[in-house]
Amino acid sequence: MIATKGYAAQNAESPLAPFSFDRRVSGPLDVHFEILFCGVCHSDLHQVRNEWGHEIVGRVIAVGEQVKKFKTGDLAAVGCLVDSCRECDNCKQGMEQYCNDGPVGTYNSYERDGKTPTYGGYSNQIVVNQDFVLRVPENLPLEAVAPLLCAGITTWSPLRHWKIGKGHKVGVLGLGGLGHMAVKFASAFGAEVTMLSTSPSKKEDAKRLGAQKFALTTDATDTRPLKSYFDFIIDTVSAPHDYNMYLRMLSTNGVHVCVGAPPAPSEVRAMSLIANRRSIAGSSIGGLPETQEMLDFCSSYNIVSDVEVIAMKDINQAYERMLKGDVRYRFVIDMATL
Ligand code: NAP
Ligand code: ZN
Ligand code: ZN
Repeated sequence: MIATKGYAAQNAESPLAPFSFDRRVSGPLDVHFEILFCGVCHSDLHQVRNEWGHEIVGRVIAVGEQVKKFKTGDLAAVGCLVDSCRECDNCKQGMEQYCNDGPVGTYNSYERDGKTPTYGGYSNQIVVNQDFVLRVPENLPLEAVAPLLCAGITTWSPLRHWKIGKGHKVGVLGLGGLGHMAVKFASAFGAEVTMLSTSPSKKEDAKRLGAQKFALTTDATDTRPLKSYFDFIIDTVSAPHDYNMYLRMLSTNGVHVCVGAPPAPSEVRAMSLIANRRSIAGSSIGGLPETQEMLDFCSSYNIVSDVEVIAMKDINQAYERMLKGDVRYRFVIDMATL
């Protein structure tokens, strides 16, 4: 086994603290890499067990004898997934996130042997099968690449699936880690982007990130003109909110896609959908091929996340700030501070 250092909480109430554990021994198809940066996702906060982190970038220390894609010294990254069945229809189409057998998560999960915990990325090293390791462009600042592995792909995937581009009016709901990547991608694809936010202080940032318009969702004078306005809304809000209010903003055949995952259910009125033949949908992270496609696009178009780099010991404070919406726009842990 490989002795590994990390940070973890022992239960839902206790703060994160130093934690030692063993990684599995690297096999012939595995990539073993040192973790340099790990992003902090709001999903980490929703979790109640003791392993976190799934926006992981680092440098390869060793590769198994059958590994073709990587060599020692290469940059490498891992997102939310470290394995899947590879045989079901979804896996065969590169949609490992929807694996019918349940994908293996990078954290709060077990390897396919059913007993080895996966432990996540708040740690100094990780061992992952080469098929689930992404190539990282050398031309981008590494700390700002880390959040692309979850915040990036989670917004990229639905924007691509619904073919968002020139001529579309897109509303991005919630300006946090996911929201700021949605603004960057939707505007890079040529859509007209409106930021829908509860924070007046984020107006200037929204414009800088690429939004043409900004609407304060707590102010009816801002939201009233948006009735039947959008072709597509990407909803990144982490807390309970009224979906009906935003569904009303969709034009004919408009789609409201939920990527934010509030912990409690919410009421959707049939009439909100019937009018204008609207749809409400969901989307989960992204598969391996599209994650690589997104990283390569970011390399070509110079797109990264806006990050605040923190030391490992400051993670609990970062969680507190994230709960208050005080993050511009992703915390990333510098693993050298572990
Ligand atoms: P985040 O950085 O904390 O951003 C969430 C944003 O939502 C906040 O910045 C805030 O934006 C808005 N918000 C928060 N509370 C609100 C409230 N009560 N009413 C209205 N707006 C509120 O979180 P994140 O990391 O982007 O994650 C967002 C959500 O996506 C989380 O639920 C996370 O678990 C989920 N997620 C899902 C997937 C997936 O695969 N579907 C992947 C990753 C994350 P404003 O200040 O602009 O209002
Ligand atoms: Zn995440
Ligand atoms: Zn599968």
